[in-house]
Amino acid sequence: MKEDIAVAVVGAGPAGSTAAETVAASGMEVLLVDRKSEIGSPVQCGGFLPEAFELEKLMPRARLPLTLREIPERIILHRTQWQRIYSPSGEYKQFAVAGRVLDRRAYDRHLAARAASAGARVLPATRARLVESSVRLSGHFRGEIRPQIIIGADGPHSAVSRAMGNPVQETGICLEYEIVDANIDAKAAEMYFSARYAPGGYAWIIPLGQDRANVGIGVRSSYMAGEKLSVILGRFIREHPIASEKLAGGEVLSVMKGLVPSGGTCGVVQKSNMLLAGDAAGHVMATSGGGIPLAVVAGRVAGEAAIAHLRGEMALGEYASRIREEFGAQLSRSVRIRKMVDVAMKSDRLMNALFAALSPEQMKSVMRAQIPLPLASGAWISG
Ligand SMILES: Cc1cc2nc3c(=O)[nH]c(=O)nc-3n(C[C@H](O)[C@H](O)[C@H](O)COP(=O)(O)OP(=O)(O)OC[C@H]3O[C@@H](n4cnc5c(N)ncnc54)[C@H](O)[C@@H]3O)c2cc1C
Repeated sequence: MKEDIAVAVVGAGPAGSTAAETVAASGMEVLLVDRKSEIGSPVQCGGFLPEAFELEKLMPRARLPLTLREIPERIILHRTQWQRIYSPSGEYKQFAVAGRVLDRRAYDRHLAARAASAGARVLPATRARLVESSVRLSGHFRGEIRPQIIIGADGPHSAVSRAMGNPVQETGICLEYEIVDANIDAKAAEMYFSARYAPGGYAWIIPLGQDRANVGIGVRSSYMAGEKLSVILGRFIREHPIASEKLAGGEVLSVMKGLVPSGGTCGVVQKSNMLLAGDAAGHVMATSGGGIPLAVVAGRVAGEAAIAHLRGEMALGEYASRIREEFGAQLSRSVRIRKMVDVAMKSDRLMNALFAALSPEQMKSVMRAQIPLPLASGAWISG
């Protein structure tokens, strides 16, 4: 292993592979390291990604990489037309959202393959550990490297973030099953709010076509009263008055677990020669838990910042403001919304009142991290 390298990227998820492709395309040397034996596997995602024109409304100032715009059809398992949101009382409101449901394993492999084709060296089955200014590699590839720049794209448990002094992130905890033989509406991605079935978060049904769906819960431990995730998800599938009609007869094909950052951008996203991108940096919309689009955009910005810095054109300290320009306002508003909705999470009565106060179009704007008047006014709390 060559010791001196321009850029090392830790983590080959959407953020890391995009960063590595960006750097490699400039002709600079870049290593892309992931501890997974097979990039993209195991999957820890529902795979829901709005179509590019929807993403432009979600992040109007972000330059969307081609890999968010033109995804090979073989990677798109299914398309949805609606987003449907259920209140605890079982009312629903729906609005049009054009969604793609990705095969995340194939998408991550596609992004890593693009990085490799651009010239990145990819090291799977290899764990990276920061030791002072070096990166120690262990596992399939071993050695110690001294990159000029380190991009931490190592997900919600990020070791690079810890090395930069960030505290542990605020996260939601998720459990998701892939279910077959279910009786779902294949046109709608659904969210269910309820203290009993998804405490402190929501449950989802993301159709994969025909009778298949990713069914999960993303909840917060402070709301769970010590219950196990599997107990709560099992209750949602078997007992929820509406969801159980769709899911109770199904069979579980796979089980996925993971964390989703919910507190917005970490305090420090750049320190000395280190940058953070994607989940590692808290780049996840707190209103939905959606992190794929932000990870890809942030990966591109991190890659560009590394190139510009190594060419002497930019101080690395500018990275944080470049990220803010692309999606900072939307991300911080999504955290503000999450904190407002946290009040409603305390009781189904409040959640029902908030639900009743919002029209379907206003709900759509909330999902796009905008704050409609009925939410901002707080009138629903006393109503
Ligand atoms: C159950 C669940 C469902 C979700 N559903 C959706 C959804 O439907 N739509 C959506 O947009 N988002 C969803 N998300 C969020 C989304 O998956 C993430 O936001 C996205 O994967 C972030 O990409 P990333 O590249 O930042 O990090 P990751 O995809 O987490 O990639 C980080 C990579 O770093 C590697 N790594 C970590 N530490 C090291 C180390 N020390 N050395 C080497 N490699 C390391 C890991 O192996 C991993 O491959 C979901 C998350 C969960 C948990």
